[in-house]
Formats: sequence, structure tokens, C-alpha cells
Amino acid sequence: MSNAVPRRQLLKLLGMSILGTSFSNCVTSPARATSVSWGYIGKAGPEHWGELSPDFQLCQLGKQQTPIDLQITDVNAISQDLLSINYQPTALHLINNGKTIQVNYQAGSYLKYGQQNFELLQFHFHHFSEHRLNGKIYDMELHLVHRSQNGDLAVMAVFLQTGNFNPTLQTIWDAIPQEPGVETRIEDINIDASQFLPTQQTFLVYSGSLTTPPCSENVLWCVIETPIEASRAQIDQFSQRFPPNARPLQPLNNRVVLEII
Ligand SMILES: [Zn+2]
Repeated sequence: MSNAVPRRQLLKLLGMSILGTSFSNCVTSPARATSVSWGYIGKAGPEHWGELSPDFQLCQLGKQQTPIDLQITDVNAISQDLLSINYQPTALHLINNGKTIQVNYQAGSYLKYGQQNFELLQFHFHHFSEHRLNGKIYDMELHLVHRSQNGDLAVMAVFLQTGNFNPTLQTIWDAIPQEPGVETRIEDINIDASQFLPTQQTFLVYSGSLTTPPCSENVLWCVIETPIEASRAQIDQFSQRFPPNARPLQPLNNRVVLEII
């Protein structure tokens, strides 16, 4: 079943006028905000993020927050050539930031949505998945964080489920720095983010937020419906190293989700 999309919202999504976001990425917050400690459990957990700092108010008050449960039955499918991806290999630069493993990407890889180019800055992992697909939680979720020249953010999300061994993932796992902190640069190992994209690419697109404080909004989310696989041992390797780092579901409110097929 497909509901009619209010024309104004549809045009906004197609034109993606996602203005006003200038934060650098999903994990590294602005200098002022990083001084506030936050986490996933207890008094610093997601239910309290909005109270931890005035900079985090949107975590509590925002009306376009991420993640959401994506209900495919409710989306409006369009088959336009609206979204394209061009990722290049990059030397493996990675950081254990204490909450996840983040791979920093060198310049030159892009996601194009409509007329807007977003450059890939970094990717990182969540356990379990933050989004749900028709209510289903996946073992992990990969976020590829992009930024346009004027500071707009776009995040591509890929679900990971238990299955076959994933060699690209293992290259990263083998290089995870033991201690949180500084970036490790391994110039003689290349990583290619396109290896994480499933062959079948149907995207669910909506306007959301960062899933970590300061929870800034106007982030273009492109969630790929088809999951990729990693072995149980690989998923365990991550979950044994990092405590669960998935933000709970947020209300959809009156947002529209588009399906690009
Ligand atoms: Zn993320």
C-alpha cells in the first residue's frame, strides 16, 4: 500500500534542501560538545542525552530524529536515477574512539543525490543495527558518512547479518587499535567501501539526524534494504570489543520515506 506524499514534502526530498547542518560527522562532535561525556547506558544514556548539554537539546526535542523503523509497505517507490555512488579505494586510516571503530576516508569518493555531491569522510559500525526494517533488527549496521561542500550531511546505512565470512571487514578488524585514541595509519593496506555495498541496491531515503549527540538534524539518510553478511565470529569480535552502541528508535512523526529502486 502506498500513501500519497504531500507534494511539498516530496519536492523537498527530491531537491533535498537539507540546509543548516555543519557538523563534521556522526561520531566526532564539535569541540564544545566533545567535552560532555555521553554513552549508551545509565545516566549518560540515550534517554538523557538531551539533558547533558544545551548543545544536545535536539536529542530530546528534535522532531526528525534517527534511527527509525522503516516500514517498506508505507513507502513511495520512485525509479528515477536519483542516487549514484562512486567510491574509490583508500589507505586504511582507522581510529578506535572507544564507542566504535571508525575508518577515515581520503578525498575523492562520492555519493550523488539529485544535483548534490557528498564526499565520503568516514565509516563506522553499530551493534546492533540502529534502523529496523519492517521491525527487524540486524546484527550490525554500517554508516558511511558524507558531507557536501556547503556542510550538508548524507549517511548511507548498510545492515550486516550473520552469514558468510566478510574479508573486507576482517582487514579492518585485524587492524583495530587496542587502545582508544589516536588515528592509526596503515598506508600499505587499501580498503574499498564499495566492497560493503550489496549487489541489489534499493534505497530507503528520508530526512533524519545524527544518531549520536548533538543529534543534529537535516541529515539525508539512504538505507540500503538488502543486508550484507559477516560471520558470527566477526560480529562477536566487534561486540566483545565494544559495548552495544545503538540508539533506540525515534518517532517517525510526519516524515516521508522514499524508496529508490
Ligand atoms: Zn553511526
